[in-house]
Amino acid sequence: MSKSSKKAYWSGYVPPYGYRYNSANKSLDIDQNENEILLSIFSLARANKSALEIAKELNRHGIKTRRGKMWNYTTISNLLSKDRIAFAAGIIDDKPGANWEPIIDKSQYHDLRKIELSREKSKHHRKRDSLLTGQNILKCGYCGGAVKSAKTKKNVGEIYYYRCSDKQIRGADYCPESKLIQQSKVDDIVINNLSQILNNPLLLKQLTEYNRKSTELFTNRMSQIQDKITSLLMIEKNLFTNKEMVDEEIKSLKKDRKKIIDQIDSLLSPDDIPFRISKKQINISVIKKTISRIEIFEKYVTIHFSIPIDENLKTTENFNYG
Ligand SMILES: [Zn+2]
Repeated sequence: MSKSSKKAYWSGYVPPYGYRYNSANKSLDIDQNENEILLSIFSLARANKSALEIAKELNRHGIKTRRGKMWNYTTISNLLSKDRIAFAAGIIDDKPGANWEPIIDKSQYHDLRKIELSREKSKHHRKRDSLLTGQNILKCGYCGGAVKSAKTKKNVGEIYYYRCSDKQIRGADYCPESKLIQQSKVDDIVINNLSQILNNPLLLKQLTEYNRKSTELFTNRMSQIQDKITSLLMIEKNLFTNKEMVDEEIKSLKKDRKKIIDQIDSLLSPDDIPFRISKKQINISVIKKTISRIEIFEKYVTIHFSIPIDENLKTTENFNYG
């Protein structure tokens, strides 16, 4: 861990929750309303309430975030992070001496730190066990939220499930249609169908044509972006303009360019597919190049392929669980 990341600091853009910027004194003052909420979050955490439980508690009382939204797991976790606790205790780099008024004392700080450490630890113990997790391709079919792994112990041993993480974060009432779906069912469907599709001799022909068209499209877009960047640079050089605005636009164009380069890289080339691909040969890299999104529903999955899968160049298909 770098030294600077240990420091509690204020970046100077948005005042930390619980504080308000006083432009007259150029100081950070305590915001009475937010401070009261923050202190109750801290005391609930010290009473061993989880981030989700705290969020629910605040929402039950109609208390909103600074932006007027409902609290959730993430917004509470952020306020209980190492940096935020250190800030609230007025600690810089493990030494007291901040130039803002602390709102918690040393012993409160150490309590919260312990809780934060144990939460971090349990985070690292969560296992990834499927080819499909951690790729950002699994989505809840009902709300579009990310899908995460869950493990339950049954008498037959450990069983892994997929579940809607938005439901988990926002509570049981959120996304009521989503259920725990056994991981092996989803994984089997995906691997079996993908291997069938990749072993279809028609695919190679289609893929060659598809690649040619996509590459053409991407190349055109690249040169459009390049032209725009060149002309913006000319404007910047020759005219009296708002340099920051032009720089901002160039930056965003360069981002678009990077995205297109990634898209070109991720095109599945016919060379990537051996004459016959076995199920065992289907690894993360093959999945990333062939599937863009998998939506999980209770009785079926919808797979969005990034390659055409039949003669009509279809890219989306539903598959029922066996
Ligand atoms: Zn959902």
